[in-house]
Amino acid sequence: MSISRFNAVEKASNRKAVEAITPKQKVSEYYGENVFNRKAMQKYLSKETYKALTHAIDNGTPIDREIANHVAAGMRMWALEKGVTHYTHWFQPLTDGTAEKHDAFVEHDGNGGMIEEFSGKLLAQQEPDASSFPNGGLRNTFEARGYSAWDPSSPAFIVDDTLCIPTVFIAYTGEALDYKTPLIRSVEALNKAAKEVCNYFNEDVHKVITYLGWEQEYFLVDEELYSARPDLSLTERTLLGHESAKNQQLDDHYFGAIPSRVQEFMKDLEVECYKLGIPVKTRHNEVAPNQFELAPIYEECNLANDHNQLLMSVMKRVSRRHNFRVLLHEKPFMGVNGSGKHCNWSMGTDTGINLFSPGKDREDNLRFITFVVNTLMAVYKYNALLKASIASATNAHRLGANEAPPAIISSFLGTQISEVLDKFENSSIEDAIEVDDKKRLSLGFGQIPELLLDNTDRNRTSPFAFTGNRFEFRAPGSSVNCGSAMLAVNSAVAHQLQQFKKDVETLQAAGKSKEVAIFETLKAYIKESKPIRFDGNGYCDEWKEEAARRGLDCENSVPLQYDAYLKPEVIRMFKETGVLNEKELEARNEVKWEIYIKKVQIEARVLGDLSMNHIIPVVLHYQSLLLSNITKLKETFSPEEYEDLSAEPRRLVRKISKHVNAVTRMTDEMIEARKKANVITDLRSKAIAYHDTVVPFLDDIREHIDELELMVDNQMWPLPKYRELLFIR
Ligand code: ADP
Ligand code: MG
Repeated sequence: MSISRFNAVEKASNRKAVEAITPKQKVSEYYGENVFNRKAMQKYLSKETYKALTHAIDNGTPIDREIANHVAAGMRMWALEKGVTHYTHWFQPLTDGTAEKHDAFVEHDGNGGMIEEFSGKLLAQQEPDASSFPNGGLRNTFEARGYSAWDPSSPAFIVDDTLCIPTVFIAYTGEALDYKTPLIRSVEALNKAAKEVCNYFNEDVHKVITYLGWEQEYFLVDEELYSARPDLSLTERTLLGHESAKNQQLDDHYFGAIPSRVQEFMKDLEVECYKLGIPVKTRHNEVAPNQFELAPIYEECNLANDHNQLLMSVMKRVSRRHNFRVLLHEKPFMGVNGSGKHCNWSMGTDTGINLFSPGKDREDNLRFITFVVNTLMAVYKYNALLKASIASATNAHRLGANEAPPAIISSFLGTQISEVLDKFENSSIEDAIEVDDKKRLSLGFGQIPELLLDNTDRNRTSPFAFTGNRFEFRAPGSSVNCGSAMLAVNSAVAHQLQQFKKDVETLQAAGKSKEVAIFETLKAYIKESKPIRFDGNGYCDEWKEEAARRGLDCENSVPLQYDAYLKPEVIRMFKETGVLNEKELEARNEVKWEIYIKKVQIEARVLGDLSMNHIIPVVLHYQSLLLSNITKLKETFSPEEYEDLSAEPRRLVRKISKHVNAVTRMTDEMIEARKKANVITDLRSKAIAYHDTVVPFLDDIREHIDELELMVDNQMWPLPKYRELLFIR
């Protein structure tokens, strides 16, 4: 009966490592060979075009059609030499993942033949007929189509036979239909606001750059086992499966050697990444069995995010070559760790200063404190928004569900920085700020050590932790577009820095000196933002109560978490930073609620199918074997002996019936709950109904099936078990 499970287990167990194809050259020699980077630009563009393009990239200025024509011609020549035949505008719609529609380079030559053609017009702008991407009502079909427009700040690249051009995706009326557009706007808003605050301390700064270094966690499963699990194939999550006797208790995977099949996969993946200019640096096993991580060297935020989007699709492709499927879901397996995508975030100046680095001089230290305190203020004021920015149906299993850390945003600073802030709060201006003869401001007391102790022993449970020279936002899930979280952080901090400047100016207008104004403002912020600082164990239950007392957002329901986007202060913040207007925010929330509904709906359907068509029939078959065993016992033995010998099988039959009845009844009830929810037209209410009335069935039904897994003959169980999914590699 369960042929496919044992077939799959056998095939997966006998699999040999597929050797990676690694170039003979050093990485430095082939790094970026599939990217139209500055080296390629220099070779394929005229001097003037190169200069105009790099100027536009560095300064975010528009590119005129003539330059675009020249760039397109150079790009096409470069790509054709590499055997490329097609091109695509590559964009990031509001579903997670990327979208592309390939067009061949060919055009009619007017003489009945074809020529290779690629004009500046095609490079700069396209109208993909992408009307089926979610847009929250921003594009009525009759009114306006969406179009994609070239983002020159992220270089074009080649995948297989296709030239991919990173683009934004917007409606004709200008509203963003993607993640990239508001991310770019947020980076620009932060640049402006941070530069002005920087200039209090250092007038040479003309630009502030936002950096992102993501860490991508993932699971690998053999593709035979994956195919034998409809839940993995359709939802990327096991909707049922009893825990394996052994999972991550011994921590032996985390410190263990990388399994050879996986090692070859990683090598292949790294080569692909290097060719695409993705600067991957670290790879290692993660805590859960068959869980791994990959992290690059950090880059400018928009580019880093493109690279992460690209990486996820490369991972999917390369894993198939090694007969694996990569799971990017946040919680593919119950009872073991889920996967996140930590976003290491920092700001740096065009003069080479990391604004979150304490620095060598005391004047650096005051600037450092200013940026840390303003970030804390932003995280404090917008903690509900930051949570909404990472909330999803899938990430909810990793945050805020059972066996998961609570869905509450707080910030860890470590003892040394905390002490400095406490000291600042309790100091007088004379102690806290020094002004030298050149009127430069610096921190009055002591040094902040450059190497922070907590950097080596940091609090792994904090969702927004200071880690030495950056903040690490740990709440984003492994499957997401980091843009969602990053644009929220960038905008919130940009707005806070604008506010800081206003507050300082208000005090100055009242006759206070610059240093007094800065001092008093920072002091007030340190006091006000205290509730967001938490260095304790963020996973314990007491923290939930404490956080609620502190007034932090503790909402657990994902559809309600999204409400944070539409609070008046958040709408104002996004408007004043120019990142998203109210119409865009409303539309994006519609999309979020819709995606939530669909994800839950698919899971509920798959579980219903698995229960009724895969599990229950097998269980009933096993039960009838038990019953015939009981009948035979009765025929064979005396009534007294029969009573005794059949006690266990009879008890088992009863137990099985109890679970079978529960599963059948609840599957029917779940279908009813869906029916009721489906007639609701308002998407928010519908998402709430799915959360409140459908999701609970997923856990409840599973519980009974997982019990049954322990009762039914192993030979008959149809789906690969956890021990097989987690330990065969
Ligand atoms: P860990 O797992 O210990 O947190 P990793 O080395 O796996 O650390 O990942 C750290 C990530 O942080 C890398 O992507 C790294 O490039 C990035 N990073 C380091 N410094 C900065 C910085 N100043 N700004 C942004 N990202 C940074
Ligand atoms: Mg980390």
